[in-house]
Amino acid sequence: MEKLKQTENISEQFFLKIEKLINLWERFKETDEGKEALNEALVEFLNSEKSDAELLRILGARIRDERKGTKIKLVGTVEISNVCRVNCLYCSMRRDNLSKDKIQRISKHDLVASIKNALLSGCTEVFVQSGEDPQIVDVLIEALNELKEELGGVKIVTNLGDLDSKQYLKLKNAGVTQYVSNFETSNIPMHERLREHSFSKRVSAMKGAQAVGMDLGSGFIIGFDGQTNQDIANDLCFVNKMNVRNMTSVTCFTPSEETPLAHEKVGDVEKTLNVIALLRILYPDFDIPIPPNSNSEKLNYNSPLSGMTLAYQAGANTVYENFTPESVKSGYGIYNIANKRPVVTKGSIDRLIEETDRNLLVNN
Ligand code: SF4
Repeated sequence: MEKLKQTENISEQFFLKIEKLINLWERFKETDEGKEALNEALVEFLNSEKSDAELLRILGARIRDERKGTKIKLVGTVEISNVCRVNCLYCSMRRDNLSKDKIQRISKHDLVASIKNALLSGCTEVFVQSGEDPQIVDVLIEALNELKEELGGVKIVTNLGDLDSKQYLKLKNAGVTQYVSNFETSNIPMHERLREHSFSKRVSAMKGAQAVGMDLGSGFIIGFDGQTNQDIANDLCFVNKMNVRNMTSVTCFTPSEETPLAHEKVGDVEKTLNVIALLRILYPDFDIPIPPNSNSEKLNYNSPLSGMTLAYQAGANTVYENFTPESVKSGYGIYNIANKRPVVTKGSIDRLIEETDRNLLVNN
């Protein structure tokens, strides 16, 4: 903290508020006490506007530089199946949207090629994700077994939905070290309404991935209708409750076409940036992704900079470049032009590098 106090432009008064927050957080983590006062402090920062928001994000970036270094970590994303047995109201990959003629499951050959492309581009980590489609698990395991010699120290992370313990164990034995399972919102009635799925089952599945020895990554969304600042403060604490130890994401809600939430309001981008900064303050050593939807046309930033750059400037440290082959993308609703969901390409990363004047952390 003493070192951080030397950060230019941050006033003594602001540091006092931050110190109070950190003390409340440490106390809560150790004793489970003081939740009300902690939530109150978090809500005050969530509401930060103008100069306070600016200070919060400067501090988030400063802590990121101190704890994670100044390079932006490059992660390669490969999507491997658009089949999902869950029916989340906000997701275009929901079960009700899938017709048999649209099913796209990647072949082992294409998956091996996509992971190799990510490795060649210098990714330090490869993130493989799909809808909740247990059938695709064995394709990934076969691909990872084939690639064993070539992966070197590259970390393999997956998000394939809720699986059973046998499947988690198979993934771990194939070299997956981290499993991402987003809780989206820890407000239980809201979670169950939006996901048409039991919250306790999701929590059990998150624990199931940890039980076989994988690290758990997680994440949540800002901007659901009816979500309060108290809910978001609870989400910030729930990450710790689930023993997440090295990665958490936050995304601003953007309504997708072809979903029951198509006409709902876009989430608050300023609040999302505040949450990135708060995540960095509460979890300084975590990988915090630049949200892949940051450059969506639906998000309205009052800035000439790209959304990806603003997320980085709030304290995020990883960027996810998309290596999904075109053959698979064609069946994904999330890539529809109508959804205006920009895919993170080399071009958008080049813009990020130019705007931030930082380099990528790559695997040489
Ligand atoms: S958010 Fe995940 S679990 Fe829910 S419908 Fe989409 S892919 Fe399936």
